[in-house]
Amino acid sequence: MNISCNFDSGNIEVIDASNPQRMLLAMRHDLNSYHFQWFHFNVDGLTPGQRYGFSLTNAGESAYSNAWVGYNAVASYDQINWFRVSSCFENGALDFTIEPSRAQVWFAYFEPYSRARHDGLIEQAQSKAGAELFATGKSIEGRDIQLLRVSRNPNALRKIWIIAQQHPGEHMAEWFMEGLIERLQNRDDAELNALLQQADLYLVPNMNPDGAFRGHLRTNAAGKDLNRAWQAASASETPEVFFVQQQMRQIGVDLFLDIHGDEEIPHVFTAGCEGNPGYSQRLAQLEEEFRRRLVGIGAEFQTAFGYARDQPGQANITLACNAVGLEFDCLSFTIEMPFKDHDDRPNAVTGWNGQRSMQLGKDVLSVTAAMVGGLRD
Ligand code: ZN
Repeated sequence: MNISCNFDSGNIEVIDASNPQRMLLAMRHDLNSYHFQWFHFNVDGLTPGQRYGFSLTNAGESAYSNAWVGYNAVASYDQINWFRVSSCFENGALDFTIEPSRAQVWFAYFEPYSRARHDGLIEQAQSKAGAELFATGKSIEGRDIQLLRVSRNPNALRKIWIIAQQHPGEHMAEWFMEGLIERLQNRDDAELNALLQQADLYLVPNMNPDGAFRGHLRTNAAGKDLNRAWQAASASETPEVFFVQQQMRQIGVDLFLDIHGDEEIPHVFTAGCEGNPGYSQRLAQLEEEFRRRLVGIGAEFQTAFGYARDQPGQANITLACNAVGLEFDCLSFTIEMPFKDHDDRPNAVTGWNGQRSMQLGKDVLSVTAAMVGGLRD
């Protein structure tokens, strides 16, 4: 039997695999950071039908140790179909077992979105969805950060920005972008055509390719949390944010969505700008409308659960959502999807997954289309 993680977004350390009933493993830290929570590894040489157990022994020391309660790991035999395996968090370790039907299985924190699939998505956005590669930034390790533009009316007034996976372990964020880009391929979509008459879309499907490739949870290759860098982005330590901010300042922003995953809360939710200095009635009404419409179209979304609201003037403006909302006086949201499940519509087999993230991306375009005319007075 062989346990490996020497591949894109792989992360595991084998401590002691001598007992197949409970192999002792650990998650590696993000480079230059104390954060860890993401895992992704392959096990080969299994005997189908036999029972194997795995223990992530350092789960209790991870960035969000409470998040393991009620969480089930994902597994796949083919890296295409992922399913949940019943998991148990006890004495600081996350344990799960499997009686595999094949000799090889992959485990991960969430259905991984690979760099190869990312490359395919960027190609597909251009060849099928009518996007252009508007600009390309570079990560610390020299990976491309593509900024796509979808512009179908040269007189469109509004600039809509959607960025994803600043936190590299939040792979659901790029699944969301894939769904959104897939919908853009349908040229008979009346909602979408109306939206693109009034607005250009600016899309960054993956903000943190180094972190994603390295199997990080939270940071880039310099150990920096990109979603705490929006007041002091630098070309040396956070070039990913620096690049996008420069582009935003040249182009303008009328709506900003920053796509994330939340480790603890088993629901899809948004976080807005209510704690920003200068937060206005106009922005409050736009936020309320966005949430109401997303519920109204039957999207997998709710408003009862989420983060505690910021007190007036107390927002952390190093976050992208708050920083962009403040600088451009625009509707600005963080959209959070769960690592666990959307408990309003639970699915024991898949939990929240790539497919559901894709559908949310499509649904968010409908709400954006409905609201584009009212984004500015
Ligand atoms: Zn996040």
